[in-house]
Amino acid sequence: MLSHIKLSKLLLIICATLVSAQSLSAQGLSRQREISHVTGDVYRMRDGGHYSLITVTQKGVVLVDPLNTRAAQWLKANLSQITDQPITHIIYSHSHLDHASGGRVFGETKTYAHEKAPKTIDGVTPLVRFENDHTFNVGQKQFELDYLGAGGHGEDSISVIVRPENVGFVVDVAAPKRIPSLSEPGQSAIAQLNQVKHFTSKSFTHFAAGHGRIGTHADAVEWVTYLESSIDAVRTGLNQGKSDRQIISDIMQKDADYRTWQQYGPWRASSLRIIIKELKNQ
Ligand SMILES: [Zn+2]
Repeated sequence: MLSHIKLSKLLLIICATLVSAQSLSAQGLSRQREISHVTGDVYRMRDGGHYSLITVTQKGVVLVDPLNTRAAQWLKANLSQITDQPITHIIYSHSHLDHASGGRVFGETKTYAHEKAPKTIDGVTPLVRFENDHTFNVGQKQFELDYLGAGGHGEDSISVIVRPENVGFVVDVAAPKRIPSLSEPGQSAIAQLNQVKHFTSKSFTHFAAGHGRIGTHADAVEWVTYLESSIDAVRTGLNQGKSDRQIISDIMQKDADYRTWQQYGPWRASSLRIIIKELKNQ
């Protein structure tokens, strides 16, 4: 039988659990925000499941992706956690508004986007546009922007490499140990694979992405292997005349390497279905 003290302790624990669960759901995952260190003078801002990249230089702060207005306001108010410098430059990884809105919060900044990006992105007109690649320096840091090509995720997706920290950053095209959804309307898995191959051909040490954990260059190579082997396995299954269902089931039975990846449950089977459809339409 529980003593009175044990019972009241138990009630306290239950109440505390309920309160914390309630406040977590009130905040919502999308409102979990923090600045975390990547390496050297490079940081990430988290806004729920979305991440931007922040580089502190002696001549201002370079931000890749403002994410959204509320996240940008939060960053402006909390940037003093890491520097006294203001945000002076904004690079857009691509123009999808779940990563690219909110730039106006930072006032006058120098802005960079691929030439295929819309004329304005949530009210901001990118000043510097480029076709293939563009490299610039702020203080002691170098920023290498590279176009990833069309047909995959986004028509205006670029990679950003920050030196001397050697951090490579891409958004939505790939992320360390994370299954891609491949679900953007009209996108091609093969084109997305080529986008990431292009990124992986670059030299960098740390792999940061718009979603998920931090990894290394080896994680980018592993991601290429993941998508390449998925496409090959689907092609083999189709050539053998298997049904869609059988192809997916056969591939997922051999998935030991990928079952621990983020989004495996929601996206593995659906992304294979998308690859099947693409290869059937070739
Ligand atoms: Zn996107």
